[in-house]
Amino acid sequence: MQFGYSETCLDHDTGPRHPETADRLRAIRRGLAKRHGVEYVDASPAEKSTVAAVHDDGYVDEFHEFCRDGGGNWDPDTVAVEASWDAALTSAGLAEWAARAALDGDDGRNTPFSLGRPPGHHAVEDDAMGFCFFNNAAVAAQAVIDDGLAERVAIFDWDVHHGNGTQDIFYDRGDVFYTSIHEDGLYPGTGEVDETGEGDGEGSTLNVPLHAGAGDADYVYSFDEAIAPAVERFDPDLFIVSAGFDAHRHDPISRMRVSTEGYAMLTECVQELCEETDAAIAFVLEGGYGLDTLSEGVATVHETFDGRIAMDPEEDPDEKNVELVDDVRAAHGLGAK
Ligand SMILES: [Zn+2]
Repeated sequence: MQFGYSETCLDHDTGPRHPETADRLRAIRRGLAKRHGVEYVDASPAEKSTVAAVHDDGYVDEFHEFCRDGGGNWDPDTVAVEASWDAALTSAGLAEWAARAALDGDDGRNTPFSLGRPPGHHAVEDDAMGFCFFNNAAVAAQAVIDDGLAERVAIFDWDVHHGNGTQDIFYDRGDVFYTSIHEDGLYPGTGEVDETGEGDGEGSTLNVPLHAGAGDADYVYSFDEAIAPAVERFDPDLFIVSAGFDAHRHDPISRMRVSTEGYAMLTECVQELCEETDAAIAFVLEGGYGLDTLSEGVATVHETFDGRIAMDPEEDPDEKNVELVDDVRAAHGLGAK
C-alpha cells in the first residue's frame, strides 16, 4: 500500500497519560518496516476552506485561536497544543490525499492509507470531541465531491466506537453513505439501528451496534448480510474505510474480540464489495490504542493488499448478533434472511 504519513502529525502532543499519542504512529511505522512493498507519501495540509466545507467556520476559527493560545483541554478527553492546528490540518490533508489517489486509479498494491492523527470520526460540524478535531474522512469525502471527482461516497467505519461526527455531518445527505459496526453502549452512545438518516439522506446511514464480545464471525456476518447489500444498492464511486483498530481483543479500551486475522477478513470483504461496485478504495486511520495490536492490524491490511489470503472466521456469529443484523436488514428494506 501507499501510506500517507507526515512528521507534522507527531507534534500533536496529548501529554503523558493519554491513549492517543504519537507513539501510535511510531508503532505502525515499526510494524510496517518489516513488511515488503510499503511506500510512504507525504501530503500537504488541507486548506482551511476545505476543512470548513464540513465544519462550521466559527468552530474552525475557535480551534485555530485555541491552538495559537497554546491549547489545553478542549474537553476532558480532547487536548491540544499549539502544534495541534498544523497536525489537524495535516491529518485532514492526508485523508484528502488518500481519497484523491484512490480516485486517480491507485488500487491493488498501491491502495492509499492515510496515517494521520488526531483521528477524526467523532468531530461534529461545530465541535471537537473524543480526541478528534477535524473529521478527516468527511473532509476527504466532501473535497472529492466538491471537485467533481466522485458523485457518491460510502464511508465504512470499523472503529469500535460509533463515528457520530461522520454520521451527523452527512445525516441528511443522499450522496454520502455512512455505515458503522461498533460496540453497543460504548462512547459516544450513538449509532442505533433506527438512526438511518433523514430527508435526502433517509436510508443512507446504516448502523450495526454489535453486542460487547463480538468477534471476527460477527463482523464478517454483519458486513456480508447488511453492509454489502446496502452499499451495493447505493453504488458509490469511492469507498472510504474509517479504520480504527480498537475492536481488537487485546485493545485496552473495548470489550470486542476481533483478532488480527479479523482485519484481514474485513479487508477482503471490502475488496470484494468494491470490485463488485467498481468503487475506488481509500483507508483513513481512526483509533486503536494497543500499540502492538494497532501496528499488527495496519500491517495486516497492508499484507492483504499485497496478496495475502485471509482465513475464514473460526466460529459462527452469535445468535444475538444474527438477530441484530436481521433488524438492520429490516430497517433498510433488505428483506428477511
Ligand atoms: Zn475508537
